[in-house]
Amino acid sequence: MTTWIDFKELRARLDFETVLKHYGVEVKRKGKQHHGYCPLPNHNGKKNSPSFSANLEKGIFQCFGCGAKGNALEFAAMMEKVDPKDGAALREVALALQKRFCPELGNGLKPKAAQISQPKSETVKKLPTVVNAPLDFELKGLDAKHPYLLNRGFTQETIDHFGLGFCSRGMLKDRVAIPLHDHDGKLVGYAGRVVDDSTITEDNPRYRFPGERERDGTIFEFRKTLFLYNGFRINAPVDDLIVVEGFTSVWWLFQNDLPNTVSTMGADCSERQAELIVSLVKPGGIVWIMPDADKAGERHAQTLLTLVSQHRLIRWLKLSEGKQPTDLSIEQLKMSFIN
Ligand SMILES: [Zn+2]
Repeated sequence: MTTWIDFKELRARLDFETVLKHYGVEVKRKGKQHHGYCPLPNHNGKKNSPSFSANLEKGIFQCFGCGAKGNALEFAAMMEKVDPKDGAALREVALALQKRFCPELGNGLKPKAAQISQPKSETVKKLPTVVNAPLDFELKGLDAKHPYLLNRGFTQETIDHFGLGFCSRGMLKDRVAIPLHDHDGKLVGYAGRVVDDSTITEDNPRYRFPGERERDGTIFEFRKTLFLYNGFRINAPVDDLIVVEGFTSVWWLFQNDLPNTVSTMGADCSERQAELIVSLVKPGGIVWIMPDADKAGERHAQTLLTLVSQHRLIRWLKLSEGKQPTDLSIEQLKMSFIN
């Protein structure tokens, strides 16, 4: 598993003066500015003119001699003779800087995510919390031959592959139960999809996910933002990974010979999910995103572009207005991914 780098946070925390000194630059301060000879190995202007200036507060620099400019991270890259536009190489430099200067960022969690893990109410504050604990049971008696899935064109092979089935009891009564596995392949819960859309209300949403529960003095929390649906089935990084919003799109693409498909289980993509997406694609590989063609899908794509594009090549397959991946025939899907 690769260490996640939050470039924005790293850039915000890196102290440029420290970085400059690390590379042996003798910092001559004039207020917030440093002026001196250009230390960059690729500098090709006059060597003995003070063409290099850095704004220590803003963490940016430029050289009037060689024309180089950028932020502290890009400066470090240039000092390491790395092209800052080479995402994978820049990441290596960023990782080294993070380890040296901001080791507190290396835990893979943003402060924001840490706050969410705090129990909300006073009464539960003292109880230990476990997130996405493996289930110690499996739902039995699911009806894998229920017409809901078959009528939507899913084959018995697809239904069995994903372990789907209609549930007639308990929390998922009158829903199709969808087993959810974390990144290690452990069953951590079930989602349930309503089979009769006319019953959908605020209290009876289309999809139901596991809630928070307390047992033997421990709080059990479920968070879908910490893994990708179908992610655990991809055992090694692939050349091409398809990312969709929903479960049904994963099933449909699997059935049409596109098994390397994962879903974020909704229009949001968390940083952890983005990290997992990157880890599932070889450097030089492509992340193909195919969101539903609506407002939420647009947001989904924008989030992915922001989080993933600095690590991997990403291509957005735009569907026509109102369409979703399950509307595409096998021929249309093949056409989409060939070019
Ligand atoms: Zn220069």
